[in-house]
Order: sequence, then structure tokens, then C-alpha cells
Amino acid sequence: MKWSLPSWQIGHALGIPIRIHASWFLVFLLVSWTLSTGYLPENLPGLSPARYWVMGGAAAVLLFLSVLLHELGHSYVALRYHIPIDRITLFIFGGVAHMRKEAPSPQAEFLIAVAGPAVSFALGAVCFSLGMLAEFMQEARGPHGLLLLSALLGIVNVQLGLFNLIPGFPLDGGRVLRAGLWAWGKDFHRATKQAAGVGLGFGALLGFLGLSILAGVLVGELPDSMASDGSWIIFIGMFLFAAALASRRHASLRQALASVPVRDLMVRTVESIPPNCTLDEAVSRYFQPYGYGGFPVLENGRLTGLVTVYDMQTVPVSLWPWRQIGQVMRPVSPSLIVAPDASIMDAMEQMAREGWDRLVVMQGNQVVGLVTHSSILHFLQLRQAPTR
Ligand SMILES: [Zn+2]
Repeated sequence: MKWSLPSWQIGHALGIPIRIHASWFLVFLLVSWTLSTGYLPENLPGLSPARYWVMGGAAAVLLFLSVLLHELGHSYVALRYHIPIDRITLFIFGGVAHMRKEAPSPQAEFLIAVAGPAVSFALGAVCFSLGMLAEFMQEARGPHGLLLLSALLGIVNVQLGLFNLIPGFPLDGGRVLRAGLWAWGKDFHRATKQAAGVGLGFGALLGFLGLSILAGVLVGELPDSMASDGSWIIFIGMFLFAAALASRRHASLRQALASVPVRDLMVRTVESIPPNCTLDEAVSRYFQPYGYGGFPVLENGRLTGLVTVYDMQTVPVSLWPWRQIGQVMRPVSPSLIVAPDASIMDAMEQMAREGWDRLVVMQGNQVVGLVTHSSILHFLQLRQAPTR
């Protein structure tokens, strides 16, 4: 998902940075406004507008905490499975914990997915208990603000848990479904595509439901107050549909990348540079005539490192006649080497992990090719080209 609006970091929880996306403020205003002009004056009459706004704002903050705790539920279990989490972002449709890698097993996937709704249901139970306590203590004085607030939060948390259990990927219920399909068919990417297909179905279904509600309001079958519910359901349905579509495309792509070996994509005509070559010579004899962004460095047929234009740029041009390639290259290490039978997916993950833009392909002790980030991108562009 790409959101062009900015987001701000507001703190840490479980060691994870918590960010608020600009679109979340829209929800905050919407919730505060709905509560302070509708729900609260109707159920708790006789207070000043300022009181209603303060209470509405407080409820919106508590709603925010509910969503955050739901995401922390997922995060807590993910961390137990050693999955690093970059950040938690709260945005217009709730929250998302950005996990750096996929769950290691169907069981892990299942437990991470159900942890969020489990937290929401537990919070719902706590809120209802508090509400009952407030009711018990305030019985003589009629409805009370605390009672209203806790009942509202209880309902919201239970709804949050239930909505997320809709079995369409990428919702939590869809992740549970994927875990089941993954365990059953033993194919992670196929399970993702199938669960995302169900997500598309539920997205369309929600859109249709929302439209039916709006139509009911228009012809007078349903009260006017349901118009906002209908719009909101259409909005959520569209979001789920778009997210499921993106997930399905992503899974197809990963499936394609996992099935193609590095050997099919590597540059085979590998020219190498000796380590005692000066940077000046390297530019005139290798970089300019061949036009490659990097070369393996070989001494007596043995790989000693890799040199790229980025490494050359770290040295001022005036020093190029005196500096040797061996002094600026990245020395050979296992992170720089990939086998020709490895998948493109493995190669991409290795590059991302190590921060390289190319890997040396080696069969035994021999350099057989180079695989670069840009050659993989070209391959992907060709695969995504429209069929005429
Ligand atoms: Zn969730």
C-alpha cells in the first residue's frame, strides 16, 4: 500500500515504533463529531456542548488505543516467532503491523492472525464488565457517562474482532484461512492466492451490501441515519477488494520468482578486473567499454571481491590514477555469492538483506555469471507486459 500522506511517530511499544498516518485524524474527527453531536446528547441529555466534545474526544482516543492493542496482540506473537516488526501504523481503516517477513509455518501464521481479534474480544469483555460495575454503582442516578462510554467501547472492540475475522485475505480471518490452506496444500503462494480470492469476494459483497443500504435509504425503506453506515460499508468493501487484489498479484509474482532459477536470468559474459588495476584503468578498460555497473574482481582465476560504480564514487577522481581496485572493492564473502540453481526470489531476498545490487553466481570455485537487481526488474517488466 502506498499512501502519499505523511505519518508521525508518537512513541514505542514492545520496542516497535508507533506511527499515526494523516488519514487517521479524519477518523478521529469523524468519531468525535458523531459522538458529541449525536450519540452522547441523545443518551445523556442536559450537558454543555463542550462536555460532549471532551467526552467524544476521549472516546476517540480510547478507540485508537483499542486498535493499537489489537495490533500489539499480532506483534507480540510475531516477535515470539522472531519476526522483526518495522513499525505499527494507524490509519483510516484501523491499524497495520509491518512485519519484515512471512510466518515460518501455518501454525505460526494462525496464532499471529488470531492474537489480534483475541485481544479485541478480551478488551470488549473488560469494557462490558466495567460498564456493569458502573451501572451497579450508579443505579440510583440513571444513565452515566462512564457506563455509556464503556458500553460503546465494548461494542466497538467486539465489532473490531468480528470484522477482522471475515475470512478474506488480507484480513485476520483471511490469514487464518491461508494458514489452513497452506497446511493442507503445502503451498504458501497458492494458499495466499486462494485466500485473496475469497477477500475479493467479501470486498464485492460488502460493496453490494453498502449499496443496498444506500438504495434502501433513498426509497425510504430504511431510516436516513443509515446512509452513513452504507457509505462506510462501501468504503471498507472497496478497501478490502483493492488490498486482496494487490495481495493476489504480489503472490503470483513471488510464485513466478520462486520458480525461476538464477541461471536463467544471469549475465553470462562476465568480464573481470584484476585487483592491482588502478581506478583510472578500470574506467577506461572495463566500465566505459562494457557499460556494466559492476565487475567481479579475480586474481589468478580466484574471486577476491566485487567492485561497482558506487565503490568508485567513494574515491575523488583526482586519486583514481593512484588507487587500486583491490583497495575499494567489497571483499568476497558468502553474502556476495549465489548458486545458479537458487531461485530469483532467494537472490532478491539476499540482495535486500545484504544491501547489494548484484550477486556473483558461482558454480563450485568458478564464476559463471552475475545477477543484478536491474536484470530482475527487466525480467519482471517483461512478465507483466500486456499480451497483444
Ligand atoms: Zn488484526
